[in-house]
Amino acid sequence: MELTIRIYPDHVLREKSKPVSTFDERLQKIATSMTEFMQRLDGIGLAAPQIGILERIIVVDIGRGPLYIVNPEIIKSKGKEIFEEGCLSIPGASVQIKRPFLIEIRGCDIEGKEIHIKAKDLLARVIQHEIDHLQGKLIIDFLSKEALLKFNMNYNPTLPAFQVRGRE
Ligand SMILES: [Zn+2]
Repeated sequence: MELTIRIYPDHVLREKSKPVSTFDERLQKIATSMTEFMQRLDGIGLAAPQIGILERIIVVDIGRGPLYIVNPEIIKSKGKEIFEEGCLSIPGASVQIKRPFLIEIRGCDIEGKEIHIKAKDLLARVIQHEIDHLQGKLIIDFLSKEALLKFNMNYNPTLPAFQVRGRE
């Protein structure tokens, strides 16, 4: 199966992802592919739909090694902070987004073991961004109508850096 990084306006990015119920070799392979893509693109997070897989899997790496969260669920959040976000699936976009800076997440690791994580600041930010992807939500959804129109008019999704392919 050939995998490519999905770039807005690819419809896959707008779909809702399904929970993972089988923790097998295939899931391991997906996780490995996701990390490869993320590293090749110099990203700090990636969600499975960004490589065309509509399953609730995210990977985050803010410099401490990849953290996989399967079926992530935010169970608590606190505070509000505005920070600029970009997205590997929307080259050139950067949006100021207000989000909680402290969150608690429940989910599983790729072996299916339950995990419970408290995250703050950048880690909390990236996790929330990736969870949005699992709902089909993108950073440009935080723009005003006017700003979105302007963004779409100037959007050029064919930047060579994003023509990245890989194999599962
Ligand atoms: Zn993104």
